[in-house]
Amino acid sequence: MSATKTEARIWRELLHKISQELDPKECDTWLRPAVCRGTDGDVVCLEVPNILFRDFINANYLRLLETAARDILGPGATVQVEAAGGQEGLFAGGAPGPEAVEPTPKYHAAPSKLNPLYTFDSFVVGRSNSFCHAASRAVAQNPGARYNPLYIYGGVGLGKTHLMQAVGHAALGNGRNLRVSYLSCDQFMNEMIAAVKNNKTDQFRRKYRNVDFLLVDDIQFLAGMEGTQVEFFHTFNALYEAGRQIVLSSDRAPKDIPRVEERLRTRFEWGLIADIQPPDYETRRAIIARKAELQKIKIGDDVADLIATRITSNIRAIEGVLTRLAAAAAHLSTPITAALTQDVILEIAPEERRVSFSLDQLQEATAKYFNLTRRDLMSKSRRANVAFARQIAMYLCREKTGASLSDIGLAFGNRDHTTVIYSIGKVENGIKAGDADIAKVLKDMEANLGRLRI
Ligand code: ADP
Ligand code: MG
Repeated sequence: MSATKTEARIWRELLHKISQELDPKECDTWLRPAVCRGTDGDVVCLEVPNILFRDFINANYLRLLETAARDILGPGATVQVEAAGGQEGLFAGGAPGPEAVEPTPKYHAAPSKLNPLYTFDSFVVGRSNSFCHAASRAVAQNPGARYNPLYIYGGVGLGKTHLMQAVGHAALGNGRNLRVSYLSCDQFMNEMIAAVKNNKTDQFRRKYRNVDFLLVDDIQFLAGMEGTQVEFFHTFNALYEAGRQIVLSSDRAPKDIPRVEERLRTRFEWGLIADIQPPDYETRRAIIARKAELQKIKIGDDVADLIATRITSNIRAIEGVLTRLAAAAAHLSTPITAALTQDVILEIAPEERRVSFSLDQLQEATAKYFNLTRRDLMSKSRRANVAFARQIAMYLCREKTGASLSDIGLAFGNRDHTTVIYSIGKVENGIKAGDADIAKVLKDMEANLGRLRI
């Protein structure tokens, strides 16, 4: 890194580059208040007014900042964002405690946007999800009692959102009309940030601290979001003290969420932790039968068996196959044959061919793409490009093989499984935030791996 560049100049150049890609208002609001506090090796240290800014920048602009930093300072450059203020000082007057819950709220939360299809009735119960299902029913019937919070976790497309919303429907149905808020963790953060910006924190708090059910989906995205964690902590306490029901969902157990405050993690563990497993064959068959009925399509046993055998770990993918089959059958006026189903499965869920990759192959292909060696991926190097390539490789290993987190850790120089979770989480967050770099790498890697398969 050139020693002649002063901090102020580096930041000016960075800001200039970024301002070409961002809405000027966004840039003014979130990035212009930052100052460059110096550089430490390849790391550019930015200071922002408070942790709210830091959370938001890390979630939305970090990759953009790092790409720009690499253009200006060289391939190893990374950016670190620090908050100037203290944590609890984020909200004027500090965050109020449980007494903030009013017995008769004057403010009613907007009606929750629940998917009408996600009810208990439409949920197929099997061995893999019966515990979660029973727990969800129990809290719907008897909120704020024994299972508070109910913490549901499991892999993608296994029915977490469906069950949470079923709780919401049950709370609203049968004339109970309880106050229900269902939202994703990201929505919570974005609303909170908007409230702070517009001086509406009181309103925000009243909204979420006066509900009977607070259902927060994908809580793993609290990882590293300290400002949101503080607010969520107080929301949690207020509701808990008032005997209101909290339901959380996540793709992992509380202990596996990285960078979350201990006091919050322990609260996640206070109630009931229920995991939801991939469905077994019988449950998959039952789900296929139910969904085919809903989609009004007729499929034979051979087709149902084919789908249930080939798609084992994601119910959303099963639905996708059925929707596509329904469309094809209607469009072509042909019966749904096993051959057609085979094609649709390959199209919708190509990853179901994942058995064909080994960890070694994925490491090799990723290293090659980044002009590195497998040894680099296994090394302890924290160089930005190596770390990024390693995160991508770990993510691919998780996506494309049945390897456990510890297996993956072992294959990458004997790393701890929490490191693996953290790395995979970085890539997942990037995908969620629409990170263009990550999207491109994954698309290129898909193509490269596709060639490997042939
Ligand atoms: P997750 O939130 O765990 O990623 P979702 O709840 O979004 O998964 O479920 C994905 C899709 O699969 C949804 O359309 C949902 O209705 C369906 N689904 C999942 N589990 C079941 C089940 N046991 N019975 C019926 N449909 C299910
Ligand atoms: Mg979900």
